[in-house]
Amino acid sequence: MFVESHLSTVLELQEKSFALLRWVRGALRDGRLSFAIVHTNADSAIVAQEWIERHRAGIPADARPNAAQTTMFARLFVSFLTTSFRLKANAIRIVSDCGCRCSCCSYLQAGPNIELRTPTKKDFGTARELKQIYLRRLSAESGSEISPAAIEAIFANSSLGASLSAATWASELIRRSEFASQGTAVLALWREFAEQQRSSKGQVRMTAKTFIDAENLILAAMKGESG
Ligand SMILES: [Zn+2]
Repeated sequence: MFVESHLSTVLELQEKSFALLRWVRGALRDGRLSFAIVHTNADSAIVAQEWIERHRAGIPADARPNAAQTTMFARLFVSFLTTSFRLKANAIRIVSDCGCRCSCCSYLQAGPNIELRTPTKKDFGTARELKQIYLRRLSAESGSEISPAAIEAIFANSSLGASLSAATWASELIRRSEFASQGTAVLALWREFAEQQRSSKGQVRMTAKTFIDAENLILAAMKGESG
């Protein structure tokens, strides 16, 4: 089950990911970024952390994690970058020096030459599996074992659809901050609930309370199904 303070921290870092990407685009145009260090490490989160540490002084406060949060932030940032976007086929580098060409640096150097991914049918199928995993875990954590039939009943309840997508997305975001990423399926989850979260300004406001409310709705439904 969600712990509000931890979820709030993860959501704040996720918002900083958007801010950092915006800053990178502007700073690229001004030639303020360096890709001179060539990364041979295959772990993009470690690469992102090195790159963020190296540019820390120039990164504005709204896009900069505090020192203790940098590892977690690097994982979230690199997942956000590579699962939400893809490099355009003929992406032209904004920076023309012979810098690093690792996956993380390629994304950072592409500037506007990245485009939003569209989740595929397969991604939505994986998203469905993630929701089942989330429900089973929630059931175990709440101490009320939920039967496969009850899980199906919760799936079939369309009024819970957005809450289930939202809560599963938040639980995957926490997993991303710790180690793993479920790739584009997480983007599929986002698409399933974010439209409903848009404010009148067209922005999606994500607070820990939004997801805790979603989880509580599901818990209540679970108790109804198992009782
Ligand atoms: Zn690199």
